[in-house]
Amino acid sequence: MLITIPDYYQDFECIADKCEDTCCAGWQIVIDKKTLKKYTKIKGDFRKRMFKSVDWFQGTFKQDKDKRCAFLNEKNLCDLYLSQGEEGFCKTCREYPRHTEEFEGVREITLSISCPEVARILMNRMEPVSFLSYEREGEEEFEDFDPFFYSILEDARKEMIAILQNRDLTITDRILLILGMAHDMQGRMNRQEMFACSDVISKYTTNRALDFVKKHQQKTENKKEEMTFAHTMFQHLFELELLREEWGVLLAETEDLLYRDKENYCKTKKEFINYFKNRTGLQNHNSKDGEPDTMIEDSNCNINITIHLEQLLVYFLFTYFPGAVYDGEIYAKVQLAVYCTWMIWEIWMARWLKNEKSIDLEEMTELVYRFSREVEHSDLNLREIEKILSKKWFLTNKTGCS
Ligand code: SF4
Repeated sequence: MLITIPDYYQDFECIADKCEDTCCAGWQIVIDKKTLKKYTKIKGDFRKRMFKSVDWFQGTFKQDKDKRCAFLNEKNLCDLYLSQGEEGFCKTCREYPRHTEEFEGVREITLSISCPEVARILMNRMEPVSFLSYEREGEEEFEDFDPFFYSILEDARKEMIAILQNRDLTITDRILLILGMAHDMQGRMNRQEMFACSDVISKYTTNRALDFVKKHQQKTENKKEEMTFAHTMFQHLFELELLREEWGVLLAETEDLLYRDKENYCKTKKEFINYFKNRTGLQNHNSKDGEPDTMIEDSNCNINITIHLEQLLVYFLFTYFPGAVYDGEIYAKVQLAVYCTWMIWEIWMARWLKNEKSIDLEEMTELVYRFSREVEHSDLNLREIEKILSKKWFLTNKTGCS
């Protein structure tokens, strides 16, 4: 079995009670069957606590009114761990923040940015992320797995990551290219022309591809339309399952700050971009006025907005794109990566406005992990976003590059 991990995987270490948040509150922790059975056999003083703290019918840990796990003590330490050691953990607790995607012969393990410590690692990372693979014993058989389709997706993802990490291009152009590639691959797939996908991948490595895809970019005619498009896309976040009430408050606040005044949205966006530009005076030579293309080196606060966006795009793309092997939704997976990154950008912008036009890396990191907690930690939410994105297109419906 081939195991794949991001190169910062070993940098993670749980900071436990020093963590500003905890992974043991805000969501239902499902206990795997094997561990649940083990819990019924616990003996001694802890047995009573165990029976009281587990919802045996649902197979989850009970929570208090603040949605804190029944084993989480006031110091944010786990009483189950303190009593039983690591052996006491269920699979979810043992693995978090590791996130695993399984494919035939391949296990891809990432670190979820819903953990503040992981979000910090990623947001402080300036070099392009690479992915490491190694062999481990053991193989699982998958029913109805299409290894050919998976290998095409792997090739496409490799190329998309190379595009996203091409720092000679503006971030907007990188996004357009990966959307274009996915869009055209989806077209081939829908027409049962899987073999032609390899040609699509090669075509998106040429300079010509950018010209084609730009023609099919979803253009907004005026400032009002631009704001309406952003607002409509943002409003979809309200349709998702709410895991923490504070998140609902943050969304409402963001909506009010950004979209209340139709005229001001574009002006705010421009100012937000300039805020990063002006902090250093450095700018990506490819950037155009009014687009999020700033390449900022800020040695004081370590904010390099283009690189943060790149890291988030690579993170979402790497994690979810190969899942298309199970549902064929190639384009929706890429749109999901773009949408999540874009929404984080909008939330950063609202926080910057709220702070009287100021934001630091710590706050940006906080907003990243809070976004991830709400969106990534609910399969329902991820499915809902994909459903929404199968209707909303960042590109027009016409064929792109080929
Ligand atoms: S959220 Fe991350 S750092 Fe915090 S307690 Fe959980 S695993 Fe540790």
